[in-house]
Order: sequence, then C-alpha cells, then structure tokens
Amino acid sequence: MKTAIEPGISNRPSLRLRITAAAESIARGGHPWVFAQSVRQQNRPGATGELAVIFDRADRFLAVGLFDAQSPIRVRILHAGKPQPIDHLWWQQRASDAFALRQSLFDPQTTGFRCINGENDGWPGLVLDQYDTTRVLKLYTAAWLPRLDETADLLKGEGRLVLRLSRNIQKQALDDFGLKDGRILHGAALNGPHLDTATSGFIDSLSTRSGERVRERGLSHPVPLDGPVIFLENGLRFEADVLRGQKTGFFLDQRENRRNVEALARGRSVLNLFSYSGGFSLYAARGGAASVCSLDIIEHALAAARRNFALNQDQPAVARCRHETLQADAFVWLRQNPEQRFDLIVLDPPSLARRESEKNDAITAYAKLIEASLARLNKSGILVASSCSAHVSADEFFSLVRATAQKSGRKFNELQTTRHPADHPATFPEGEYLKCIYLGSME
Ligand code: SAH
Repeated sequence: MKTAIEPGISNRPSLRLRITAAAESIARGGHPWVFAQSVRQQNRPGATGELAVIFDRADRFLAVGLFDAQSPIRVRILHAGKPQPIDHLWWQQRASDAFALRQSLFDPQTTGFRCINGENDGWPGLVLDQYDTTRVLKLYTAAWLPRLDETADLLKGEGRLVLRLSRNIQKQALDDFGLKDGRILHGAALNGPHLDTATSGFIDSLSTRSGERVRERGLSHPVPLDGPVIFLENGLRFEADVLRGQKTGFFLDQRENRRNVEALARGRSVLNLFSYSGGFSLYAARGGAASVCSLDIIEHALAAARRNFALNQDQPAVARCRHETLQADAFVWLRQNPEQRFDLIVLDPPSLARRESEKNDAITAYAKLIEASLARLNKSGILVASSCSAHVSADEFFSLVRATAQKSGRKFNELQTTRHPADHPATFPEGEYLKCIYLGSME
C-alpha cells in the first residue's frame, strides 16, 4: 500500500515552518493560504510539492500543507488543528468526501459538473470537472506536479482524464516534468460513442471538426480526441473544449443562473453579452425566447455557440428561436449601438479585477457595462448581471448595480440575487467570486 502522496523526498528532516503571529491566527481560523512574507523560520529550503509542517509559537503543531517554493502563496494548507498524518488513506477520504457531496446533486440530465473545487473542497489549487465520461484535472499550483501520478490515480474515475495547467505553471511543468497542457493522463485518447454517452443516439447526425460526417466514419471507429467532448446540462447538449478551452472547457459555475434565465425568457428578445459558447443563449432559446444574440470578442467561442445550437435542434423551442452571433468588443459595441433594445440582457464578463490593484478600474468598467445595458432594456425588460471577480465582493457588486439602476432614472425591481452553486462551494473570502443580480424594469 502507498503510504502517502509524497514524491521521492527521503532522508531529509521534514520541512518545518514558523509563521508570524497574524498568519498563525489566520491559519487557525481556517484560511488555507500562508503567504511567503508570513514565513518567519524554515529549517531548510523546501522543494515545491513537499509537505510543510507549521508549528506555532509554543512549538505545537498548527497545520500541514503543500509547499510551493515559487509561489507567493508559500503553503496551501491541507489540514489544521490536531496532528494528522497525510497518508494515502487521508487523500482517499478527501476524494470520496468531494465525490459524495456531488452524488445527490444531479440527475442523468446533467453530466457536466465540478467534482473538486480547489481549496473549498480541501484540494488547494486543484480543480476537477466532469464532462460526461471525461474528467479534466486543472492545476493552478506547481505543488501538484511531483504528486501527479498518485493524484491522477485517485481522481481518474472510469473514463478519460485530461490534464490542464494554468498558464503560470506551464513552463515549469514542461521543463521539470515533461508535462504539456492537454495531456491525456488516463483512458482513451479517442472519442467514441462508447466513451461519450451524451452523444449516443444522435452522434450519427454530427460533423467532426474536420468536417467529416461521423455517420460516414461509422460508429464503430472512434475518432481521436482532437476537439471538444459533449455533455448534458439540464438536458441541453453542450460541447466542452477540454483540451484548449478556457478554464476546463466550459463555465459550469453558471448552470443555475442559466436555468433562471430559461424561466425568464419566454417571448423575449435576448442579448447575451460575453456569451462564450452560448450557455445562457441556449437556455434562453429553450425557454421560448423569440431571438437571441450571442456577443463575444472571440470568434471560435461564437463558432462553438453555433455548434451548440446545432446540437439541440431536436428541442422545438431551440429550433424556433432566431439565433445570431456577433463578434465584437462588448464595451465598444454598447457605446456604438445605443439604439438597439432588448427584453432580456445577460451580462457575464470575465474577471475584470485579477488582482487587488485592479479593483477600482474593474468597478468603473462594471458601472459602464451596467449603465449601458440598462439603457438598452425595453419596458419590462430584465437585466441579469454577474461578476466573477473575487476582488469585488458580492456586497460591492450588488450595491453598484443598485446605485447604477437608481441613477438611470427608471424604476427597477430587484428580482433576486444568487451566489455559488452547490458543486462550487466557497469556504474562504478569496474562494468566493461568483455573484449575480436580476433586475426587472418597471417602465
Ligand atoms: N457567460 C459565459 C461565460 C463567459 S466567460 C457562459 O455562461 O459560458 C467571458 C467571455 O467574455 C469569454 O468568452 C471571452 O472571450 C469574452 N470576452 C472577454 N472580453 C470581451 C470583450 N471586451 N467583449 C466581448 N467579449 C469579451
């Protein structure tokens, strides 16, 4: 039996750290990060990926975590409180805890969801998303790289496991471990009906990326995984570009807001700003929207949106809906097209503040987007405004939207606000990024 996920670091005393008093109390309070500048003492240089044990001022065990020699987040805490061996059983338990939480959340109509949400599930800097029979393991810290084999073994499931690497660790992964973003760690490097069950029954009517008809290839000849996999979300088919797409290929965190938009869309003209692959657009169409415009700055995201519409033509409301895609910078387009009006506008920009210093600019940018979107709402129109910047708190964002609505001089009803869905738990402030507010125009 394996004793621990502990990469070949032997004959060395364990890495022992002491940290500042402030950092001690933050760690005791359950926060999962210890920053480099909080480390007061270290018994020896640490290697990225090894376990670091943190002792308090009275020399008692405080916490144990993953050391990262390069990152400003020097230790990502795995366990705090009573001393605890971090062995194979412990990791197994962490994995089964995360899977157990998701087990009862979804019916067979939803085969895409998050299995592990980083720190918030006790796996700091690691995300695991499921898309039908394909799992995507995305690493945000190099500390996982020396532990990859054992980690992948624990998390691989029955099907395929794809490795994705955040941009900041790609060079290190290649130089030190020969690992490339998009590597298939387990399972077939092939796409076939036996692998992707969401496609069964309709795959024969699809085209592959190269334009060949799958029907002509024959269902018994799987095609290489050189493109997206298809999964179900509330009965809608979507593709996830697990090899090259943003995040792990799809924005799973907006599932519930998309469902809310479906319920609000009947008969409406819809503008989906920052649409990516048309997640909100498809739900609006199924909800009976008369027309949907998906706007994004990236053409291949819009091409994916068109393919996602094509995948769902068996749904009468989707087939009836007029869908157009528009490649544009949303900020510029809103400025240049003041006359166009819509009954429902979805506003879901990328994170506008990636660091604290960008927060004020982000708030100014949000205010512009919200003001311009409100001005384009028809009478009785609805704005669904979302933010995924952790540096702008939910309270700050909601206040900004309310204040901007008030300034507009029109009357708006606040329909609801939402936060994180259950498969994306947020257990510490920096982990809490998603918020969304729904406003209905009264005039
Ligand atoms: N709402 C989407 C996710 C949006 S992600 C969903 O539910 O899946 C943010 C998107 O904004 C990305 O697709 C990105 O290409 C796009 N984007 C970034 N800057 C933009 C800009 N200035 N104008 C329009 N789109 C932009």
